[in-house]
Amino acid sequence: MKLFTRSTRYLSILVLSLLVFSCEDTEVTPDRPLTLEEEQLLLGNPSQASDTDANNYLITRPQYALSYSRDRGTPNWVSWHVEQKWLGQANRQDDFRTDPTLPQGWYRVGPSSYTGSGFDRGHNTPSADRTSSVEDNSATFLMTNMIPQAPNHNRVLWADLEEYTRELVEDGMEVYVIMGSYGAGGTGSNGAMQSIDQGRVIVPNRIWKVLLVLEAGEDDLERISASTRVIAINTPNSNSVSADWGSYRTSVDAIEQATGYDLLSNIPPAVQHSLEAKVDTGPTQ
Ligand code: MN
Ligand code: MN
Repeated sequence: MKLFTRSTRYLSILVLSLLVFSCEDTEVTPDRPLTLEEEQLLLGNPSQASDTDANNYLITRPQYALSYSRDRGTPNWVSWHVEQKWLGQANRQDDFRTDPTLPQGWYRVGPSSYTGSGFDRGHNTPSADRTSSVEDNSATFLMTNMIPQAPNHNRVLWADLEEYTRELVEDGMEVYVIMGSYGAGGTGSNGAMQSIDQGRVIVPNRIWKVLLVLEAGEDDLERISASTRVIAINTPNSNSVSADWGSYRTSVDAIEQATGYDLLSNIPPAVQHSLEAKVDTGPTQ
């Protein structure tokens, strides 16, 4: 009888240990602090980008993460986190340059590839979101962070939303941002174009962005709930775009449908689905 009790106790300990270990396996965030590379992809990898697909090629850096398309000559999407620690005093470096980390043999878009096209070298991760050091700011000028963007789109609508994002951070929030583009054919200051740089860079037709806004704090993934503010917009890459980014608000679901991506995939399904169905109606300045 005594022996039976003891073996039952050992069995219980064994079962409990197995439970604890299997719970650890399903945790999305590790117990150690996130690396900077992990911080930029906290909400997930929308297209399962990896090093095996030239047109869905994962590039991670401390400052941002992206899926690159060799054949488009642009990122498919770029993901990054904005919080106070990224905003500092570093000057805009303006050192647009080829990305030396692309695999050998791939065409490398250069600083002059957009010259005369009627499209801006449009940052995905903005220069002004990475002013914590000269190195961080300089990283935003790699051409793998650029798309051909209609000047009025870049300098008015997009600049306004980028500014609003940093204002949220100055007001005590932190923001996870994913920006992407798809399709072919935009209208810049020289008219409509499908591609530039002798066909080596595709001009996207649509440019979208998703922002997830939290109060500044720790353990971000755990704090996301169905009432977290999510802003999703999808815009035409056109010089005649409206200046009002708020007028292009849509749901994350609609962007997922248009792109085939799974955005916010690291958020537990029930919360993820309710966040993705919403269309933001909050302030735009
Ligand atoms: Mn810009
Ligand atoms: Mn999703």
